[in-house]
Amino acid sequence: MTHKDVDWKLGLIDLDGTLYRGGRPIPGSAEFVVRLRERGIQPVFFTNNATRTPIAVVQHLERMGVEAFPHEVVTSAQASASRIGPSAADGYVLYIGEAGIHEALREEGHQPLSVRHPKVRERLNRVKAAVLGLDSQVNYAELALFCQKTAELGAFILTNADVQLPAEEGFLPGNGAIGAFVETASRVRPYVAGKPNPDFAGYALSRFGICREDAFVVGDNPETDIRCGRLFGLYSILVETGVAEAARRAANGELDDEPDEVVGSVGDLF
Ligand SMILES: [Mg+2]
Repeated sequence: MTHKDVDWKLGLIDLDGTLYRGGRPIPGSAEFVVRLRERGIQPVFFTNNATRTPIAVVQHLERMGVEAFPHEVVTSAQASASRIGPSAADGYVLYIGEAGIHEALREEGHQPLSVRHPKVRERLNRVKAAVLGLDSQVNYAELALFCQKTAELGAFILTNADVQLPAEEGFLPGNGAIGAFVETASRVRPYVAGKPNPDFAGYALSRFGICREDAFVVGDNPETDIRCGRLFGLYSILVETGVAEAARRAANGELDDEPDEVVGSVGDLF
């Protein structure tokens, strides 16, 4: 069996390393999304990146030539915000992060409070939950404040635990590295909302009212995309355009989370 043998209703599509690499589209990615739409398969742009708002994701995809709409974007920031219960309704949600988290919290009806807000200290006793996402401007004092509050709450949500981000010069430390800092200092283990948490796939499908049998996931990272798909019970397709070495190891059966199918790129799909 291959992906062509099933009448899918929805595809969860990873972004970086799958549709583009940094600022460059992967050849065939725009046409791949067009083919999905022509076949009546809902494309869902499924990303651990919590920094961008859905509109910013759409604008980035448009620069890559891919047509997308904000409601088709599912981010780990949204999954994080959806995880916070109504008990936080009368208080603030303290966060480290960029626009993607702020907007996701607002959309879920929470009151976001940035560690950088001028009144953060006077509002601190009304904080009910804490969310940590990537923020390239975060400083020691802000991390200290977040660690102290996390220790007091006994819980925090990490949008994603990606350890390294691909960059022009090798890599940049990812949100998982900052999460390890907070975990060590606060002695609190986070709830990680993004891939490979299978609940993230469940959250995405529930937004579209689609069952797992009718959806597939495609991505370049065996440890996040494929593991997430396998844990949730989705047909999982690995592309070799991103984290190349890991993809090769998976193809050789050296990883726990073997994809159902390995293809060169999304250009080979449908
Ligand atoms: Mg990727």
